[in-house]
Amino acid sequence: MRTQVGIVGAGPAGLLLSHLLHLSGIESVVIESRSRDYVEHRVRAGVLEQGAVDLLVQSGVGERLRREGLVHHGIELRFAGRGHRIDLTELTGGRAITVYGQQEVVKDLIRARRDAGGQVLFDAAAVSVHALESTRPRIRFRHDDGDVEMQCDVIAGCDGFHGICRPSVPVGVLSSFERSYPFAWLGILAEAAPSHEELIYAYHERGFALFSMRSPSITRLYLQVAPDEDIGQWSDDRIWQELHTRLETDDGWKLNEGRVLEKGVTGMRSYVTEPMQHGRLFLAGDSAHIVPPTGAKGMNLAVADVHVLSRALAAFFKSRREDLLAAYSQTCLKRVWRAEHFSWWMTSMLHRFPGDDVFGHRLQRSQLDYVVGSRAAATSLAENYVGLPLG
Ligand SMILES: Cc1cc2nc3c(=O)[nH]c(=O)nc-3n(C[C@H](O)[C@H](O)[C@H](O)COP(=O)(O)OP(=O)(O)OC[C@H]3O[C@@H](n4cnc5c(N)ncnc54)[C@H](O)[C@@H]3O)c2cc1C
Repeated sequence: MRTQVGIVGAGPAGLLLSHLLHLSGIESVVIESRSRDYVEHRVRAGVLEQGAVDLLVQSGVGERLRREGLVHHGIELRFAGRGHRIDLTELTGGRAITVYGQQEVVKDLIRARRDAGGQVLFDAAAVSVHALESTRPRIRFRHDDGDVEMQCDVIAGCDGFHGICRPSVPVGVLSSFERSYPFAWLGILAEAAPSHEELIYAYHERGFALFSMRSPSITRLYLQVAPDEDIGQWSDDRIWQELHTRLETDDGWKLNEGRVLEKGVTGMRSYVTEPMQHGRLFLAGDSAHIVPPTGAKGMNLAVADVHVLSRALAAFFKSRREDLLAAYSQTCLKRVWRAEHFSWWMTSMLHRFPGDDVFGHRLQRSQLDYVVGSRAAATSLAENYVGLPLG
C-alpha cells in the first residue's frame, strides 16, 4: 500500500487532517485501532471554540453543527451561593463557543471522508511506525486478517495520549513537561433537560462541580473527586445529592435530575512533548499534549494543530516547500502553551487542593472576586475561553 500521508488515529485530529488534506488534493489513509461504532459513540469533549467552528463550517463539515450545536455567549462562575455571568461575546467583540459533542464531530468527519471515497481503516491491530528519519516512512498493521505495510511520504501521529507514535521516537529526541493534579473528575451524562442555558463552573468547599449540556434534553455534569476514586462507591443518588450541594444557589436555583446514561472517572494532567516532530513523523492533538478539561481546550488544540499541519503539508506537496513543516512544532507550541497555562489557571482557581489551608482558599476567593469584578480580568478569561484566532 502507498499513500502520501499515513494518519494513525481516527479521533478529531486524524479525521479532520484527512478531510483538510483531501480538500487540498492530498491523499491520505487513516488507520484506527477501534471500531467505527466505538469512536462514533465515545463521549468526551463538547465545547468548540469559535475558530474551530469556523474551520469546520468553512471546510464543509459544519452543516449539522450549525443546525444542532448550541451557541453560548457566556459562562457562569458560581461561588459562595451566587452566580456571576462572564459575557464572552460582549468581552471578545462578538465571539462565542458552541456546545456540540466530540462524537458528533467525529461522525460528521467520518461521513465526509466516506462520501469523498476516503479510506478510514477501522479495527486495525498491531499498528507500528518505521523508518521515520527516511523520506519513505512506513506504517505496519494487521487489517482484515492480513498484514499490511503502507509506504508514506509523511506520517501523522494522531493516536492520542496512549498511542504508539510518540513512544516510537528514539529515546532522547523528545522532552516532556508534565504536571499531575491531586484530583479527578467524576462525569455523568443524564437524560435531563438542562436547568440553565449556559455552562456553570462552581467553586465549593466540598470541591469543584461543572454543569454543562450536550443537547436540549441531555445534561453533562462533573464533580471533583479523589484521583483514585472508586466509581462503585458512587450510586446515582449520591452523585445527584453531591451535585445539588455544590451547584445550588441561595436564590433557589435547582438542578434537574434524570436517568444517568453514562458515568466515569477521568484523571487530570497537563503534558507537553517538544518538539512535536521527528523526521517525517508529525504529532498532533493528544499524542503531543494534554490539558486538564477545566479550560475545554483538548479537542480545540487538536483542531488547531491539524489546521497548521494541513497547510504545511499542502505547501510541501504542491511547491516542495519544507519551511512550514520545519516550523510546525514551533508554530503549534505557542498556542499549546497558552492553552496549557489557561487550563492550569482555571483548574487552580476552581478546585479544592487536598491539604490546602485557609490561606490557599482565600487566594482562590480573591482571584474569583477579581475575575467577576474586573472587566480586564473577565476579558482575559473570555478571550482565552473562546480561543485565540486560528491564524
Ligand atoms: C472526559 C473528557 C472530557 C473532555 N472535555 C473536553 C472539552 O470540554 N473540551 C475539549 O476541547 N476537550 C475535552 N477533552 C479532551 C478531548 O477529548 C481530547 O483532547 C481529544 O479527544 C483529542 O483528540 P485527538 O484526535 O488528538 O485524540 P483522540 O480523540 O484520543 O483520538 C486518538 C485516536 O487514536 C486511536 N488510537 C490509539 N492508539 C492507536 C493505535 N495504536 N493505532 C491506531 N489508532 C490508535 C484511538 O482509538 C482514537 O480514536 C475531554 C476529554 C475527556 C476524556
